[in-house]
Amino acid sequence: MPTKAEKQLNDKLARLGCILCRQKDVETTDTPTELHHCKRFGMPRKLSPIIPLCAFHHRLGDTSIHLAGAKKFTSYWGYSQEDLIEKTRDLLDDSLQKEG
Ligand SMILES: [Zn+2]
Ligand SMILES: [Zn+2]
Repeated sequence: MPTKAEKQLNDKLARLGCILCRQKDVETTDTPTELHHCKRFGMPRKLSPIIPLCAFHHRLGDTSIHLAGAKKFTSYWGYSQEDLIEKTRDLLDDSLQKEG
């Protein structure tokens, strides 16, 4: 079970919208944002960084992270998971600052 703090963070992440659509200047659709755990070797899922992705970029599209795999995803979109983790962090910092 996620703690309250984790849940709040996840809600915030989901509200950012798809992080890849943002880079691509795609009009963010109404597709609910899904949270993708970027698994790192030797790191428990709970501690792995999370990025918000739309269903298409997450698991439905041929070039989604789950169908294409990390390598193909990166070469197709030009952003690695690490890039997107960083961008998610920046956005999150911004939104936290705005809330004061
Ligand atoms: Zn997307
Ligand atoms: Zn995922």
